[in-house]
Amino acid sequence: MTLKLTITGSTGSVGQSALAVVEGANIAGQEPAFEIEALTANTNVSRLASQAITSKARLAVIGDESLYEELKTALAGSNVEAAAGDKAIIEACEKPVDRVLAAIVGIAGLRSTHAALVAGNSVALANKESMVCAGQLLKDAAATSGASIVPTDSEHNAMFQVMERRSDIESLILTASGGPFLDTDLSTLKTVTPEQACAHPQWQMGRKISVDSATFMNKALELIEAAFLFDMPEEQIEVVVHPQSIIHSLVSYIDGSVLAQLGSPDMQTPIAHALSWPGPRVRTTVRRLNLIEIGQLDFRAVDHDRFPAINLARRAVRDGAAAPVVMNAANEVAVDAFLSGRCRFTDINRIVENALQQNFSVQTTPSGALDIDDIIALDEMSRTKCGELIGQGLSQLQGRAS
Ligand code: NDP
Repeated sequence: MTLKLTITGSTGSVGQSALAVVEGANIAGQEPAFEIEALTANTNVSRLASQAITSKARLAVIGDESLYEELKTALAGSNVEAAAGDKAIIEACEKPVDRVLAAIVGIAGLRSTHAALVAGNSVALANKESMVCAGQLLKDAAATSGASIVPTDSEHNAMFQVMERRSDIESLILTASGGPFLDTDLSTLKTVTPEQACAHPQWQMGRKISVDSATFMNKALELIEAAFLFDMPEEQIEVVVHPQSIIHSLVSYIDGSVLAQLGSPDMQTPIAHALSWPGPRVRTTVRRLNLIEIGQLDFRAVDHDRFPAINLARRAVRDGAAAPVVMNAANEVAVDAFLSGRCRFTDINRIVENALQQNFSVQTTPSGALDIDDIIALDEMSRTKCGELIGQGLSQLQGRAS
């Protein structure tokens, strides 16, 4: 059976891996495993057009409306339809498909992910920031429409693969590679550059998530994501540093069994699983594990003095509704400021900590969900405050400077 897919953020790191999975799974002379309904991007017209033509997509959508004519020109002579604007991305996600891969980075992916679920399209969720900011809202939307949310982040996909039943679980164990600064001298962290922060030792990823990995904010967001995805209290989610990134996460059961999913650190494996689940697995060309070559797997505790992000996330989960939105917004603004040279690497977690100290009162539905417009408004308010703080040279900032 051929599965119809829409991929948002197709020009990014996850999007490109997903198209590699599709290409590898569609074997000449056989019924294709996948066909593409729509691909979306923000500004990268040339990559989007070339992906859409190669994959024989029906529709290509560019978020930036001013690039519509450029996209049309790039698609001229092909059968791919062009569209532009945020609304067009949302409409693309509402068209019936077997799966929408949500791979836009940041909260920018929230409305399209939500729209897909409301329309009854099952979502392979890579866009963790949506789950962090709107976990309950997305789960309520899926429950109402009957759509599934299939975890695609490698750690959550790993847990999903080894989770037989939700009832007998004692704890979830998230593994963390530790990023590029696991053992860097603390005194030099203040001066690390965006290029150093983006040079992840195991994973090839977009710039935002690479910085998040370096600050441990990626693991912090994943902790919140896991709490929502698997209805697990934060105190039952452990984080363990595992520098080789071979074990992608583990689930510990009440009888003492601990089940883990292993594989090479390559997003094609979790993407392939998330696109094909619950059907048969599709073949990928991912490098196969050679355990003899790997020799040993190492584990160690997180150094919370060096990386305070995980404790900030625990606090955000406990504080509830508004706090994860504020935390995510502050982090997105701070990472952007770091990447463009407006703050130091060590300021990122301080900016997030500062944002979490503010009180935002919000209305929730009986299930604890925030309305999508309230989430966006809260996100914008937090961005403005953090932007002002950075603009003032971070003079009012509390917390550790290194
Ligand atoms: P990239 O930065 O590589 O790609 C981001 C994609 O989103 C691009 O296609 C970009 O389009 C698009 N995009 C950015 N802003 C907007 C916007 N405002 N509106 C519409 N589209 C937009 O990110 P990654 O692929 O690394 O990450 C994507 C998501 O997946 C993130 O949430 C990340 O946390 C998660 N993830 C990533 C992993 C990885 O290995 N990279 C692993 C697990 C999860 P354009 O190219 O035109 O700018």
